[in-house]
Amino acid sequence: MNGKIALEEHFITADFDQPSVNLPGARVKEVYRRLLEVDAERLEGMDRSGIDFALLSLNMPGIQGEVDPRVAVGRSVAVNNELARVVARNSHRYAGFAAVAMQDPPAAADELSRCVTDLGFKGAMIHGYSNIGDSATGEYLDEEKCLPFWERAESLGVPVYLHPRNPLSSQMRIYEGHPELMAAVWAFTVETATHALRLITSGLFDTFPKLNIILGHMGETLPFAIWRVDHAFGMGRGGKELKKPLAEYLSDNFFITTAGNFSTPALLATLAVVGSDRVMFSVDYPWESMDEGAKWFDAAPLSDEDRLKIGRTNAEKLFGLADAS
Ligand code: ZN
Repeated sequence: MNGKIALEEHFITADFDQPSVNLPGARVKEVYRRLLEVDAERLEGMDRSGIDFALLSLNMPGIQGEVDPRVAVGRSVAVNNELARVVARNSHRYAGFAAVAMQDPPAAADELSRCVTDLGFKGAMIHGYSNIGDSATGEYLDEEKCLPFWERAESLGVPVYLHPRNPLSSQMRIYEGHPELMAAVWAFTVETATHALRLITSGLFDTFPKLNIILGHMGETLPFAIWRVDHAFGMGRGGKELKKPLAEYLSDNFFITTAGNFSTPALLATLAVVGSDRVMFSVDYPWESMDEGAKWFDAAPLSDEDRLKIGRTNAEKLFGLADAS
């Protein structure tokens, strides 16, 4: 399919170190090179894969890994300004997600407003919890101090992409002796699915019912797991009173992308749970291959109507991209 839109596509600036992940050094070096490259090579890859338009976002953990709130705010402004320059060079191919410093939620809200209103960005990408003070300490997005940010996101009408990162360094006992399970192998999924459930059970979507969260990686297992989560939650509710069953928040307040999870059974399960209006194509470049993601998606057993929605028109509607060429 030509004309696809992809929205978990990462970049980095030279101000950020090479990512630290459990992959062979040569592979990480190559990913870092590709993260820094945002012009001809990337655009040619998009052309080869039938990807017409990409939303770019800072690589993880990005601003969330900065332990000093004041520094985090300054770095977010600098990286958003750089992304605006990247987008301006190829505005018919790219748009941006803002990087925001959730270490200081009112400042993050103001930066989101600036990015959406002045720079034309389409939302924000947040890489899980934000460190505060040191790498062992973090704050999650359902905590009360984040409410001003969520209020702003809802009033601006832009979605927030909740992207994975590894668990807090103080909370990794279950992975001790098993570094192979970190990052995209498993730890990202557990961390991000749990974070998304925290958003739901905190009542965030009862307070801000029009808020939209995007999850990559086919919903971080939640479409497969949500029946049991909902069923078991309903037995005791943990003292929480919510307006709707948990599964309804997943289909009313979340969009799910195919980023980094090119599995047909997972796609079909996701469609069965949230419906074809809430699923969108993505790659997770350069951690994943555009060619592989596109080849899989183009041949996936979908109706023409669903392929067009998932590959393009759902994103056009959500981000107001109708004029994207
Ligand atoms: Zn990603």
